[in-house]
Amino acid sequence: MPPAEQAASALHVITEQLEAAIAAPKCHKCGCLQQTVEAFAGSEAGRRELASILTKARGVFLPKKYDCLGCPVCYPALAANAFAEAWPEAAAGLDLCPTEAPEERAGWPPLPGDYAVVRYGAPVAVCALNSEPLVQRLAERKPEGLAIAGTLRTENLGIERVIKNTLANPHIRFLLLCGEDTRQAIGHLPGQSLESLFRYGLDERGRIVGARGKRPMLKNVSREEVAAFLEQVELVPMIGEEDPESITGQIRAYAERSPGPYPCPFREMPVERIQAQEPERLILDKAGYFVVYPDARSNQLVVGITPTRAC
Ligand code: SF4
Repeated sequence: MPPAEQAASALHVITEQLEAAIAAPKCHKCGCLQQTVEAFAGSEAGRRELASILTKARGVFLPKKYDCLGCPVCYPALAANAFAEAWPEAAAGLDLCPTEAPEERAGWPPLPGDYAVVRYGAPVAVCALNSEPLVQRLAERKPEGLAIAGTLRTENLGIERVIKNTLANPHIRFLLLCGEDTRQAIGHLPGQSLESLFRYGLDERGRIVGARGKRPMLKNVSREEVAAFLEQVELVPMIGEEDPESITGQIRAYAERSPGPYPCPFREMPVERIQAQEPERLILDKAGYFVVYPDARSNQLVVGITPTRAC
């Protein structure tokens, strides 16, 4: 138990932050608020001193639209931080962040995120941390060797998505970690956490050893997935670098030394097999189309591209 004064101060901060979330409509359909409230409800303080504010917060819940909006100041996260400082042992047993596995979709990358896909068969992925404009600049430049560039804002769900999306593409062999790694008000430190994952791995509870972010727990990836990820890609640590010119140079340099696709992919991308059949109606795309046919004379499969219309 913390000293009475510390407990009272923590309860005050928690109540204040939950009140702020209750007053903010964006939080009502956010997984951060809903998960934090349910996690608090399972604690001693949640059953006693916090019971009324938790009931009030539940009263504004709407069907969840997103896990986390990534707001620079997140009220439930600040409440969770105050709770964890006052009751560290109790907090360790609570799921204070949304931890549901996002739904996978067909194609690559299988998980949604804040990224720009450049080319599937390239060996370099760029993680620009909180430097969103950098993602756009790199995507516009499309340097040779760049597969994908995206942001990374959290040390739990964010890193899990990086792992899953990387494992789904064996061509990716390098992960350039650049951009601004900031705690913001929430206490996330995804860049330092990702570096720690490569350096020290996970402890027995799934926490990234040495990570200084508030909640560096990986719950939706298996140890086998983490091990395969660490083996498939080499981390190129460039935290703080935001110059597209310099990053582009590194992308090209690493692409040149790519060893080729990872030979033992953790997961195969399912390719749907479609049985060809005579079309009942043929509708040609006016913008242009491919014609694929087996050429018996040359014994080759030929792909013809029709000219596109000038707009
Ligand atoms: S991230 Fe935090 S502040 Fe932003 S909508 Fe979700 S609960 Fe509210």
